[in-house]
This record gives sequence, C-alpha cells and structure tokens, in this order.
Amino acid sequence: MSGAREASIRVSEIFGPTIQGEGVLIGLPTVFVRTGGCDYRCSWCDTLHAVDSEYRDQWRPMSVEEIWREVSALSGDKPLTISLSGGNPAIQPLGPLIAHGHAQGYSFALETQGSVAKDWFADLDTLVLSPKPPSSGMETDWQAFDDCLRLAAGRPQIALKIVVFDDRDYDYARQAAARYPALPVYLQPGNHTPPPPDDDDASIDIDGIMERMLWLVGKVTDDRWFEARVLPQLHVLLWGNRRGV
Ligand code: SF4
Repeated sequence: MSGAREASIRVSEIFGPTIQGEGVLIGLPTVFVRTGGCDYRCSWCDTLHAVDSEYRDQWRPMSVEEIWREVSALSGDKPLTISLSGGNPAIQPLGPLIAHGHAQGYSFALETQGSVAKDWFADLDTLVLSPKPPSSGMETDWQAFDDCLRLAAGRPQIALKIVVFDDRDYDYARQAAARYPALPVYLQPGNHTPPPPDDDDASIDIDGIMERMLWLVGKVTDDRWFEARVLPQLHVLLWGNRRGV
C-alpha cells in the first residue's frame, strides 16, 4: 500500500458489524464505511450528518491504513462485505481502499445516486444505483447515470434502488426501470422522519412507513409489475433513525 501518496478519504463514520438494512444485500452482515459530503441535497435525506457542512467538523480525513485499522478491529479480521455509503461515496477516492480490502479477502458494496462516475466502480463486488425521485427535489442526470454503468463495465453485481413516497415517485421508478430492463429493481417506501441530532431520540413514523409500504405493494401488484421487489428499510424498523447500527 502506498498510503503516503494517496489522497485521504473523508469519513463520517465507520461502524459495525451490523446487517445491511436495504436493497439487494438486505440482511447481510457488513461493516459500514460512511463517507462525508454529497453533491445532492435531497429533501428527505436521512443521513444529513454525512451531507450537511454543519457536521463537517465530525468528518475525518483518513488514509487507507487508518480506515483499515478500524475495519479490521470491527470485523475481527474476518473478511465480510464492506458497505461504502454516504453522503455520496463516489466523490471520494475509494479505489485504493477497495484494492487493499480485496487483497485481504473482503468484498465491497457501494451505493450512490449515480451522479458521479468513477472507473473504480468496475472493482466493486456490488454497485447499488439509487436515482432520486421527484420528491427528493433533485434532478437526475441520466448521462452521468449511464456513465456509472459504462465505467462499471458489467463487472459488479448492479441493482437499482428507488425510494418511493408518492405517485410521481412511483411513475419515475417505472420509467427508470424501463430504461434499464436488465437491472433488478428494489423499491423502498420513503421514511419522512428527520434524523435525530444525536442518539437520544431515534423515533420514527412507523405507521407512515408501513402505510406507504402497503400502498407500494398494492401499486406493484395492481400493475402486474412482477420484476420489482418491495422492501422496507430493515434497520429503520429495528433501530429507528439511530446512527451507527
Ligand atoms: Fe442524502 Fe443520498 Fe440525497 Fe445525498 S443523495 S442528500 S446522501 S439522500
């Protein structure tokens, strides 16, 4: 590892082992490396502590060696899947971390909105592309999104994951899925609850989430959209909006 010459990675938090709470790897034990900073600002972002510059003083510029020391301690040196999350982890220089982890037998899954493409996407084991629907207030740059797929070069397992709050989001999800018919699509009912400023109050609007979950199941089955999978965020059901679990 040539850590001294590598750009540092801005890290918001490293935690685990826990389980992946959503999407294609739901239920899989994992250690999270959450990076700090995002080029988006979704209206319902549930990880503002990794997005908003207000939290910048909590983010650490870390070398691969420093990150690896924490990952090794958390995993007990037993290889598992590392979830690269954010913020938008695609804006960080993660290639050397992935190369180092692979050499130790670890796997890597990364989730991004698909706004920034990197050639090291091809080195991932799993790439979750999560384009943001209209309720986020963001506009999808489909050219950038296509670039993500192009640079992944068909190597990692790739899945679409789309948060759905309402009919407009659902229509967006259908269009996105139609645009990429070869990709498995995971739909996730939105979670309106803002993240707590600390760990003292991690309560969630469970009734609202379950209501949207049932509505979404009804939409998919009514439409005979049998390729879609509908999943809630398991970690939110288990731990609310608590950080670091
Ligand atoms: Fe938050 Fe993700 Fe949106 Fe960034 S892309 S603002 S991390 S929900």
